[in-house]
Amino acid sequence: MSSPVVTPDPNEVYEDPLDLMGEIEELKKEKDASILAHFYVDGDIQDIADFTGDSLKLARDAIKVKSSTIVFSGVHFMGESAKIMSPQKRVLIPDMLAGCSLAESCPADQLAAFQEQLRADGRTFDTVAYINTSAAVKSLCDWIVTSGNARDIIERVPADREILFVPDQHLGRYLMEVSGRKMILWPGSCMVHEIFSIQDLIRAKRNTPGSVVIAHPECPQNILELTDFIGGTEKMRQYVMSIKDPTTFLVATESAMIHAFEKSAPQHTFVPVPGIMTSTGETCACNRCPHMARNTLQKVRDCLKNESPEIEWKDYFQKARDVLDRSLLQ
Ligand code: SF4
Repeated sequence: MSSPVVTPDPNEVYEDPLDLMGEIEELKKEKDASILAHFYVDGDIQDIADFTGDSLKLARDAIKVKSSTIVFSGVHFMGESAKIMSPQKRVLIPDMLAGCSLAESCPADQLAAFQEQLRADGRTFDTVAYINTSAAVKSLCDWIVTSGNARDIIERVPADREILFVPDQHLGRYLMEVSGRKMILWPGSCMVHEIFSIQDLIRAKRNTPGSVVIAHPECPQNILELTDFIGGTEKMRQYVMSIKDPTTFLVATESAMIHAFEKSAPQHTFVPVPGIMTSTGETCACNRCPHMARNTLQKVRDCLKNESPEIEWKDYFQKARDVLDRSLLQ
């Protein structure tokens, strides 16, 4: 978790969101650009985006985009994936410092050293990485999974080979349970999904009879044990859309996701499950990802205007692309 936590910039001048949206629309035409926005960024940005979704859907959308420039509103590894999938396009991101605690919990040099050690010990294994990893890590792996395709991919790994799963230990543990395959787990985690308070979830369930708990598989096991539906962001969205009767959902994932739920299934009520602020031990009702929160309308406007910061192609992107193609597109 080495990325700095974002704090309000005292020098940032307030600008009317509607003016910014108008300016962004003009710049999109002028610069031949499309905006891809992750479900975890502010609702205002999702509303002006050409494509919204989870990281897998957006990586696929990056291939479909017709414009010559993509503005990827999300975090750094997602911008890398867009560039990998669409190398001929210019990929801009609003803030180069928008990292990801989960991706950063597995640095490429440490993974390479661990793989080397396993090989020296005579272990034969495939490395399976969750999509929330840097391109450098992806290039060291055999398979990339999302919460949606993980079971299928795991079944493709021959039974006589071990599986090294990186970087999310909670997702890995969940996948061991659903697939029945033992795995060597990298000890990484997401700072947002790790802090949900089990006591507050129990209290919220008690106070909201008939409510349904939905959670992301990046949550720890004690939260998943109390969950009615486990799935990645897109799967959760499909699930709430499939239920017609008005229902109260207790949501254990990044709270900006509620904007997408409310747009897709307005008949329901969505309540964020509180998290614990690790610095003070107090509970906090929002569970915002500080990296996603670095994306603002101003920064979207500025990166379009300045055509920067840009994700540049690196040599190892080709190897990462081969792994992504094999895992997600075939
Ligand atoms: S919510 Fe977690 S996994 Fe997603 S970008 Fe933020 S830190 Fe990374």
